[in-house]
Amino acid sequence: MARYTGASCKLCRREGQKLFLKGERCYTNKCSVDRRPYAPGMHGQNNRKKISEYGVQLREKQKAKRFYGILESQFRRYYEMSMRKKGVTGEILLQLLESRLDNVVHRMGYGSSRDESRQLVTHGHFFVNGRRVSIPSYLVKPGDEIIVAESSRKSTRFKDILDITGSKVVPKWLEVDQENLKGKVVSLPAREDIDLPIQEHLIVELYSK
Ligand code: SF4
Repeated sequence: MARYTGASCKLCRREGQKLFLKGERCYTNKCSVDRRPYAPGMHGQNNRKKISEYGVQLREKQKAKRFYGILESQFRRYYEMSMRKKGVTGEILLQLLESRLDNVVHRMGYGSSRDESRQLVTHGHFFVNGRRVSIPSYLVKPGDEIIVAESSRKSTRFKDILDITGSKVVPKWLEVDQENLKGKVVSLPAREDIDLPIQEHLIVELYSK
């Protein structure tokens, strides 16, 4: 699946806030949003244009895509899926995005950023319900058990990752047993369980036009 391969920090600067795309670096004084708090590009520092309603909605969608590392066509598909489900479309959209295996693994602490977790999934380091899954967009369900592959357990990579993420708070819709390198999906996340600063109703308004 295609993904953005350009400079991550530029995306944060474009959105005017930290999107936490680079793991540990995002919490240090090397963060580009702290060092250069203006949009990238030649006119980044002089852009005082009033943003239109459409612009506000567009930026919200771009921000959500960037948090989860998803390109437009796939993001649109999640929106269409959320439209077909019963409930509040924006909340279901976020729930689908949160249910992606790369995000779940990141939330469990196996990966200091979604990008790193996505790479670990792609390289086949995880089993879901006893089967190896290497598709980052795989959608988990309540009751699913996620376990680090036996062959990957001795790798220092997981030890290094857990040294960084070990103290991270795991959301209540997930259970993690870091000692045994496994976890479980207890339920799907409710809106209040998703701590990202996204106003999903603006995304729905944008796509509904
Ligand atoms: Fe964004 Fe992290 Fe880069 Fe800061 S260090 S600009 S939060 S990706």
